[in-house]
Amino acid sequence: MYQESRCFGIGILCFNRYLSLVEHYDIIIVGAGLAGLTAALDLTLKKHSVLVIEKDTFPRHKVCGEYVSNEVHDYLDHLGVGLEEVRPISINTLLLSTGKGKSVKTKLPLGGFGISRYTFDNLLYQKAVSLGANFLFQKVASISFQNNGFKVFTNINRAFTSKFVIGAFGKRSNIDKSLDRAFIKRKSHWLGIKSHYVYDDFPDDLVALHTFKGGYGGLSKTESGALNFCYLATYKSFQKYKSVQEFNENVISQNPHLRTFLKDAKPIFEEPLSIAQISFHKKGSRREPYSDVWRFGGIDTSALWEWYGDGYT
Ligand SMILES: Cc1cc2nc3c(=O)[nH]c(=O)nc-3n(C[C@H](O)[C@H](O)[C@H](O)COP(=O)(O)OP(=O)(O)OC[C@H]3O[C@@H](n4cnc5c(N)ncnc54)[C@H](O)[C@@H]3O)c2cc1C
Repeated sequence: MYQESRCFGIGILCFNRYLSLVEHYDIIIVGAGLAGLTAALDLTLKKHSVLVIEKDTFPRHKVCGEYVSNEVHDYLDHLGVGLEEVRPISINTLLLSTGKGKSVKTKLPLGGFGISRYTFDNLLYQKAVSLGANFLFQKVASISFQNNGFKVFTNINRAFTSKFVIGAFGKRSNIDKSLDRAFIKRKSHWLGIKSHYVYDDFPDDLVALHTFKGGYGGLSKTESGALNFCYLATYKSFQKYKSVQEFNENVISQNPHLRTFLKDAKPIFEEPLSIAQISFHKKGSRREPYSDVWRFGGIDTSALWEWYGDGYT
């Protein structure tokens, strides 16, 4: 009898302790890329309590073209994000070339700016923190919907509850797998490679898109003066070579513009960054298993599973 009540007592104690460890927020945002960070800023400005859970820390480089359309300025102003302090490079000219090097050049009516994800994401993160958004750097392992609210568990078993969850975890995540989403089973045939270079011969105001057999790549300067080279290539064209360097020498250098660039430019990163499985397909549909969550939340969405944007804008 004593044993039983003691166990029961310990059980209550553990349960109370568990409850005291579970933090509650109005909104939990999973993923702190551009979508998650701007959502965090917007919602914090609207006085909601926000927790952003992100698996990587800031600042960090990301595979990205790092050319941003000027379309974003109004929204950044609305969020109170000033770009002046990080001095992005203004870009107003586009050059396009074929694999053999034939090219056209044109002025961009709207134009854009060059800024690294290292700086841009970190700027948004710092701003969100200064406004009072909460950040946790852990990987989210699961999200479930129970009793009119969400429960979010991280990979080291920290638990959080919220009324709303915004899934801003990018194009392909472990969460998509845990939700058994149909798209995750489709293999994608594209990979992305990116590196920064010192290359003073490249004009500041230019973004260049060069094609090559099995892919294309963009060149444009970033706020640090470094030239970003980011390209997409198919596995089929890439797999014949042992390394990025071999691929660059044998395939990318077939384009004369890229040959000159690769010959004269000095890489800044020790190794290029790469990502696999880049897909251009739409992620989901309402027929998928997680779609029942939408019904619980009503038309104004209790979860935005896909908010990964169409480019930065
Ligand atoms: C090769 C390439 C080049 C591009 N170039 C350009 C360009 O030049 N200009 C442009 O406008 N757009 C460009 N884009 C598109 C742009 O990168 C995306 O539109 C943008 O990054 C989408 O933002 P996001 O926040 O949805 O996703 P992401 O930026 O991918 O952020 C998702 C975040 O979620 C985190 N995450 C994922 N799973 C979990 C988890 N389980 N727990 C916690 N965190 C998690 C990830 O760590 C990541 O930080 C490019 C895309 C690619 C692939």
